[in-house]
Amino acid sequence: MSLLVLKFGGTSVADVERIRNAAAHVKREVDAGHACAVVVSAMAGQTNQLVTWVEDAWGFKLNNGNQVSAMYDAREYDAVVASGEQVTSGLLAIVLQSIGVKARSWQGWQIPMTTDGAHRAARITGVAVDMLKAHMMGGEVAVVAGFQGIGPENRISTLGRGGSDTSAVALAAALDADRCDIYTDVDGVYTTDPRIVPKAHRLDRISYEEMLEMASQGAKVLQTRSVELAMQRGVRVLVRSSFEPPHLNGAKAAEACGTLVCHEDEIVEQNVVSGIAYARDEAKVTLLKIADKPGVAAQVFCPLADANINVDMIVQNVSEDGFTDLTFTVQSADFDRAIEVLKKSREAIGYADLRGSSDIAKVSAIGVGMRSHAGVASQMFSALAEKGINIEAISTSEIKISVLIDAAYAELAVRTLHSLFGLDSR
Ligand code: ADP
Ligand code: ASP
Ligand code: MG
Repeated sequence: MSLLVLKFGGTSVADVERIRNAAAHVKREVDAGHACAVVVSAMAGQTNQLVTWVEDAWGFKLNNGNQVSAMYDAREYDAVVASGEQVTSGLLAIVLQSIGVKARSWQGWQIPMTTDGAHRAARITGVAVDMLKAHMMGGEVAVVAGFQGIGPENRISTLGRGGSDTSAVALAAALDADRCDIYTDVDGVYTTDPRIVPKAHRLDRISYEEMLEMASQGAKVLQTRSVELAMQRGVRVLVRSSFEPPHLNGAKAAEACGTLVCHEDEIVEQNVVSGIAYARDEAKVTLLKIADKPGVAAQVFCPLADANINVDMIVQNVSEDGFTDLTFTVQSADFDRAIEVLKKSREAIGYADLRGSSDIAKVSAIGVGMRSHAGVASQMFSALAEKGINIEAISTSEIKISVLIDAAYAELAVRTLHSLFGLDSR
């Protein structure tokens, strides 16, 4: 008997009908003799609604459109937004019971799935699966509320947006599951977001490293942390569609139904570039005329780090008369806080002016083949130049090149690079 973790995202549990469909997928696996744990997200749109209520309660939209300065209590945010998954876990358990499958729901605190105290984006510190496993071995499906855990102060925590993927992978690792199936609204990982480029095609397999770059550069099909965890723990993750009829899936080998995220050496054929990712959720900050001397960068970035604000791309101009400009990007969600932190540190840093913009996009080409092929960057920059797209910043890793551009050109840039690297489906 194998042990499977199945995860259903928001659109796959968007209403009771969709939950019934998810239950049919689960039943197929149970009937095939697998022990199953199922992780669910909240119904599509529900978490956004809950976040809006938190912001309204705190008065974020008051103050003539300016945000109120201090942040609301993140523990209460978690108490509110975790509730969406409580609803779907209970509903799926009820539907499973109604079709004769033994099932019960588990909230994060009941397992318990413990996390650190970084509310709103907590990290999982442990998954105590003994009790859950005992139930599963008795033939009961464990329906687990994704996205949530319990923090050190015994308070409900959440794992950051898209965090149910991470709940599923963490559970699969703790249960030593044979596979973690991520059911979503696309039938796998594509060469780029199929909503933007209709010519995108599905990859049969993608390496953990490439998937990690794709996710962290904006392909939200899997939460970045879930891929990190899958890679560390060697969890086989299969991204597949809940929209395929449940009975038909049974006829095919499971791994032919989607994209398998696995070790690089399990992939035979490999393009130089495997995929193009894009993100529009970053904002750009520029500090004008700061002193070009040792210690200034630390004065800029230490207070941001202290405020838990992640900085992504950084560009420093050539120095003139001992002064320089510094541009960097942060998540849009952190933009206002970053500006506030920098204004407070103005005296210590000593900049002449502070500018910011969120009308930017980051477009990335990703592929393990870049390790052994020169010239990918130059091809990429020439193709963008031909389309008149200006590059504002560049960052690279061994298997990725990212450029920062005007948001208005994001889709054109993605389509251009997708064709350039031979990814358009024929
Ligand atoms: P879920 O609610 O199931 O967690 P998400 O909306 O979080 O689903 O993720 C699935 C979406 O990810 C798809 O609908 C698709 O638009 C988007 N996406 C972005 N990049 C990719 C990609 N490279 N491959 C597949 N889907 C992608
Ligand atoms: N419901 C949460 C969100 O919308 C978690 C998830 O869907 O993975 O972010
Ligand atoms: Mg998701």
